[in-house]
Amino acid sequence: GVVTRFAPSPTGFLHIGNARTGLFSWLYARHHGGKALLRIEDTDKKRSTQEAIDVILDGLDWLGLEFDGDTVFQSQRADRHAEVAMKLLEAGKAYKCFASPEELAEMREAQKAAKQPMRYDGRWRDRDPADAPEGAPFTVRIKTPEGGETVIEDAVQGRVKVDNREIDDFILLRADGTPTYMLAVVVDDMDMGCTHIIRGDDHLNNAFRQMQVIRAMQGVEDGWEEPTYAHVPLIHGNDGAKLSKRHGALGVDAYRDELGILPEALFNYLLRLGWGHGDQEEFSMDEAISLFDIEGVGKGPSRFDMKKLLNMNGNYIRAADDARLAKLVAARIGDAVDEGLLTEAMPVLKTRARDLIELADGAAFLFKQRPLEMTEKAAALLDEEARTRLSSISARLQGETDWTIEALEANLNAYAEELGLGLGKLAQPLRAALTGQTTSPGIFDVLVLLGREESLARIDAQAS
Ligand code: GLU
Repeated sequence: GVVTRFAPSPTGFLHIGNARTGLFSWLYARHHGGKALLRIEDTDKKRSTQEAIDVILDGLDWLGLEFDGDTVFQSQRADRHAEVAMKLLEAGKAYKCFASPEELAEMREAQKAAKQPMRYDGRWRDRDPADAPEGAPFTVRIKTPEGGETVIEDAVQGRVKVDNREIDDFILLRADGTPTYMLAVVVDDMDMGCTHIIRGDDHLNNAFRQMQVIRAMQGVEDGWEEPTYAHVPLIHGNDGAKLSKRHGALGVDAYRDELGILPEALFNYLLRLGWGHGDQEEFSMDEAISLFDIEGVGKGPSRFDMKKLLNMNGNYIRAADDARLAKLVAARIGDAVDEGLLTEAMPVLKTRARDLIELADGAAFLFKQRPLEMTEKAAALLDEEARTRLSSISARLQGETDWTIEALEANLNAYAEELGLGLGKLAQPLRAALTGQTTSPGIFDVLVLLGREESLARIDAQAS
């Protein structure tokens, strides 16, 4: 069956480009009823703090991507990586290189001066290790083919190839015995039984090298079958440049915390970045699983569009369950807010918000303390005339026995007619008094949500 893996490095945040390839790997496995594995590439000790690892795990969890089996930590597998290097050494498919760092630097300088590509020249490839001084440190390098080419049938890029002369005998084990990234990745991929390697196309060049290790191991150990590679084009910004922070390339946690995006919106947006199915815009997770395949992944870079993400998020907010939204908004407003009231208000509040921040801003009036803090614009609306009208409105509403949208609307419409004014003229100062703002949900919704007592108290506080 199909086995995929997502292999993020803990960098402190789960970049959305990475999250997208993680999503693709996960979906591909789910679509084929296979296994979606997770491997944390935590070999950089400085960056791989528990916190940096948790950022990745939390982000994936929040997106709803549950991986199979135990999470593999690359740093714990160094012995196995070294074992593979040693097996290659024994099989004559790798060799010890005793060139010192100074010597290699010199070699590169000479290559640079001669305008030649800088790559290891194979100086220890056929040399007798006995030539080296007793106990001299060495690296283990793979013997890569000298002629021909390495071809990869990439599931996204198509047939890609490289002249083998461009692949030098790269290092598998450093002089201190630690494995290189190039070795670790491929050993882990094989030991995890990965059949499909879906990742960013910035790793395409690595694939040619990783393929050398796989082929070299094929006569040495069982189970080293070439996986199918699928190198997904990177995400670009709206200006066509590679996606970076200035385009809004944030970590998944920032979309959640700072931008107020719902997980299903980000899931769907990432899915649609580089994959399509006709012109369908929105997919549930189940639909995505049943429809996703590599054939639908485009060859060209996709463009990140924040506006589109926010609009999509607005659609998901309108579709979301009110009690769930209330919980999310309550957490943002802080203090002890009444979740029941928020839930009740949600159908009205969610009609225009594009993110949870706007939703929380829109809900804030419900929980303001008297005397209400006024925005400048709201204060400007409350002149003498307006205040006098507020006291008449208060008097009328005191007598209102039916505190419903319909009854309140009829009541105030009658008053506006009496005064020969449009309802808007009455509603503006009333809104200012009730919310401290000049924008809010419909005025009758506001009255009903605040309830009779609180509404009258807020009106009276501004009336004269
Ligand atoms: N750890 C690598 C990264 O985060 C991915 C390695 C791979 O997918 O082969 O870029």
